[in-house]
Amino acid sequence: MKTAAVNRAADICDLAPGYIRAIAPYEPGKPISELAREFGLDPNGIIKLASNENPLGVSPLAMQAMRQALADVARYPDGNGFELKQALSQHYGVETSQIVLGNGSNDVLELAARSFLTPGLEAIYSQHAFAVYPLATQAVGATGVEVPAHDFAHDLGAMLRAVSPRTRLMFIANPNNPTGTLIHSADLHAFIRALPPDVIVVLDEAYNEYLPAELKADSVGWLREFPNLIITRTFSKAYGLAGLRVGYAFAHAGVADLMNRVRQPFNVNSISLAAATAGLDDREFVRHSFELNQSGMRRITQGLTQLGLTYIPSFGNFVSFKVGDANAVFQQLLKRGVIVRPIASYGMPDYLRVSTGLEAENERFLEALGQSLSA
Ligand SMILES: *Cc1c(COP(=O)(O)O)cnc(C)c1O
Repeated sequence: MKTAAVNRAADICDLAPGYIRAIAPYEPGKPISELAREFGLDPNGIIKLASNENPLGVSPLAMQAMRQALADVARYPDGNGFELKQALSQHYGVETSQIVLGNGSNDVLELAARSFLTPGLEAIYSQHAFAVYPLATQAVGATGVEVPAHDFAHDLGAMLRAVSPRTRLMFIANPNNPTGTLIHSADLHAFIRALPPDVIVVLDEAYNEYLPAELKADSVGWLREFPNLIITRTFSKAYGLAGLRVGYAFAHAGVADLMNRVRQPFNVNSISLAAATAGLDDREFVRHSFELNQSGMRRITQGLTQLGLTYIPSFGNFVSFKVGDANAVFQQLLKRGVIVRPIASYGMPDYLRVSTGLEAENERFLEALGQSLSA
């Protein structure tokens, strides 16, 4: 007995694989409640433009559906998400067998990694791309290959050249977060066509609803052409349901089936299923979100220019701008009750990212930023 105890690992955590111990945790935007506690501020006076959330809140149709769903929470959710899949199928013209639902699109990104990666295989993603790609890759012990960006955008040529016999996944964020860059449809299509068929493209379109129609790729149509394409989308951004955690993937039916086997049986809860199903058909809400973002983006970028700052033109509901000592400016903004997002962990230590807000929030942000720069 005694010997066994002595032989035990000195640190129980050493029992976890090295690739798990090496994971650098995701750094979320600072919650309003946390800033209120830390600085003794009134939470009602704080504005959060840090997580690309929808400043309009929740669609009234989704709200009503959630209220109704509350009565049934004693029951397990529909593990197959029948109604939401029906709604998505009608909305986008895909078969329900091609749909995977997730606890946020984050979940779906992980399902792709868990379905196709093992230690020894590689996933490729761009420098300055969404932080979940390296996390999902590392969590399954596969190797992440980060390809240097070109002017903050995905360098598709370099990404193609990075493909090796061990490459199994290629993550593409379009538009990308936190840079907001967009790959044009024809370039993206040519890129996917040029990839070996045994490399699966995970095309993350979390900000798709913020694109004007003429800039949207027909990515869903491409599924007929490319069995190695997985498209991920979310209800967290334009649909205003970030707290509920609902995302989905469209893929070849066989691929969707694999991902569905890997997921938790009840990975999307019943309130979220109800809200997303109702929210999907609230065209008015999505249109309003789109328009508010268009005008907010114009106002914020104009304000940044007036302050003498440069920014990366963005196709999302956020924009990253350059401010020398980003952490100092971030702290100054916090003091003034404005939360934005430092993106040093994305290899952009001189930049801050701000999400578009309501008109009054954008004004307050610009005013606080002006004061913070001269503080
Ligand atoms: C916000 C975001 C997501 C969506 O995350 P959810 O898990 O669906 O809330 C996915 N990809 C990118 C690039 C994002 O910025």
